[in-house]
Amino acid sequence: MIYHIILGSNMNNPQQQIETAIQKVGALKSVKILRKSSLAQTKAYGYEDQDDFFNQVLELESSFNPEELLIRIQTIEHVMGRMRSFKWGPRNIDIDILLAGDQVLNYNDLVIPHYDMHNREFTLKLLCELIPEQMHPLLHKTMRELLNDLSSPGGDK
Ligand code: ATP
Ligand code: CA
Ligand code: CA
Repeated sequence: MIYHIILGSNMNNPQQQIETAIQKVGALKSVKILRKSSLAQTKAYGYEDQDDFFNQVLELESSFNPEELLIRIQTIEHVMGRMRSFKWGPRNIDIDILLAGDQVLNYNDLVIPHYDMHNREFTLKLLCELIPEQMHPLLHKTMRELLNDLSSPGGDK
């Protein structure tokens, strides 16, 4: 199974936090990092009165199913002392699963594709570095089309 996950940080040396998280993801049994997007610096999303975020997308090959992968990434967040004050507030590390190929899941604790990825320009830009032509399995648009929708006036946003 191919996954795309996003790492985010805006606290305590974000670039270093993301580098540490990448090493921990790469060290997971049954996970291989195939490709990495660039590391992007963006204004905070949702709650804007906080430091800029750093984000990076990883393309993984893994034999874990999505729930197994979620548990592993939550363990990494925990081990890294995941700190956050409130929803969308500052955090030292956040790891979200964006896509699991064309799989669609809707559990209480795991929604794939990520429920808000198509509204987040920073996420789509990084995905477009790796998979511009891949379809969003629910919206039936490519990553590039979703990104274009966000930036065009009168688009979907
Ligand atoms: P957002 O999800 O809007 O980016 P957040 O990442 O700050 O916000 P968290 O507090 O990190 O939100 O996560 C809340 C819950 O989201 C987690 O406990 C997890 O069970 C759930 N969740 C659902 N779908 C996913 C997914 N695709 N990847 C990671 N966590 C998910
Ligand atoms: Ca998140
Ligand atoms: Ca999260």
